[in-house]
Amino acid sequence: MEKLEIESVEVVPLRIPLGDSPIHRFGRDAGGPRGFGCTAIWVHTKGGPSGFGYCFQTGGGATASVAAFVRDVLAPRATGQDALAPEAVWHSLWRANTSAMRGGIAAWALSALDTACWDIVAKAAGLPLHRVLGGFRSRVPVYGSGGLRDFADSELVEELNSFVAQGITAYKFKIGGLAATAGQSTDEQRIALLRKEAGDDFTLYADANQAYTPAEAVEVAAMLRHYGVAWFEEPVPADSVDDIVQVASESAVPIAVGENVYFRWGFRELCTRGAAAILQPDVGVCGGVTEFRKVAALAESFNLALCSHLAHEISVSLVGASPAGMTVEYADLLPHDFWARPLEVRDGCLEVPGVPGHGVELAPEARERYALK
Ligand SMILES: [Mg+2]
Repeated sequence: MEKLEIESVEVVPLRIPLGDSPIHRFGRDAGGPRGFGCTAIWVHTKGGPSGFGYCFQTGGGATASVAAFVRDVLAPRATGQDALAPEAVWHSLWRANTSAMRGGIAAWALSALDTACWDIVAKAAGLPLHRVLGGFRSRVPVYGSGGLRDFADSELVEELNSFVAQGITAYKFKIGGLAATAGQSTDEQRIALLRKEAGDDFTLYADANQAYTPAEAVEVAAMLRHYGVAWFEEPVPADSVDDIVQVASESAVPIAVGENVYFRWGFRELCTRGAAAILQPDVGVCGGVTEFRKVAALAESFNLALCSHLAHEISVSLVGASPAGMTVEYADLLPHDFWARPLEVRDGCLEVPGVPGHGVELAPEARERYALK
């Protein structure tokens, strides 16, 4: 096939309501309205398949702005280009908007559009995207993610056990950020509880969401080490690589970062400066599939582990494609009628979708039901 011309780009902002389970307090925790956002994009080609791409806006804001950036800035430039050359499309959209592409809204928009182009490439090839990218393994372990700081102890244990029941052998919980209030356990008490409940062989990860200063983080790392916590995620502000390096150099617990890091350059700096042992790109943030696969190559080159941030339904294909791929973050956040083909955890693993493309599709009714109005 010589060329598949992009005929149009369709963009639909979605608002995802949150339910009543404890993990759905996430929307409130993130400081946004109750619910969070998803910008859905379809790239249509002349006489060929359409591709789907998306990015989430945790906290709920900015979805309309991401959609507007796609519609007003990226779509006109992408139209007429060859969807089978995602590197060329990516480069032209980035090059024309380098001032805006500092992260945030513009980068999320580019990420979603890029993901749609890769979906087209794989569909046109008649192959799962996972195989187009190298197809390293088709079953990938997940870790259960949740454990918000305001969970009651009983909720923490209940969530842990719900993951264990799915054969999952690792759990991530939040630390820092909220001072313990009357009647609420401290971080250390929560970790001790989880360790006791899960047993010594179970893997625990702690996520601070950038809550600490470097000095605080070094102290917390020593406590985490005591309980055998296997990674310490975003201990300090993600924008300050100096601070991450400082913590990494003094922490016996490996540092994980990446959900707020943009493009290959952001990850390259983490790698060359020894800031992290685990890289956690988010395909809807980092610059799409084009950049995710470069981060995968960096992880492999620097002998680091590649994990993903949220979006397990597509991340399983990307993490599974790379020899550096370790585990996929799994949080049960979306309504169960959101995707046409929801994935199910079996024996602690997700299976890569075996259909042409990345296999992620919005359920037909979801588009109307969850439209941002
Ligand atoms: Mg995190």
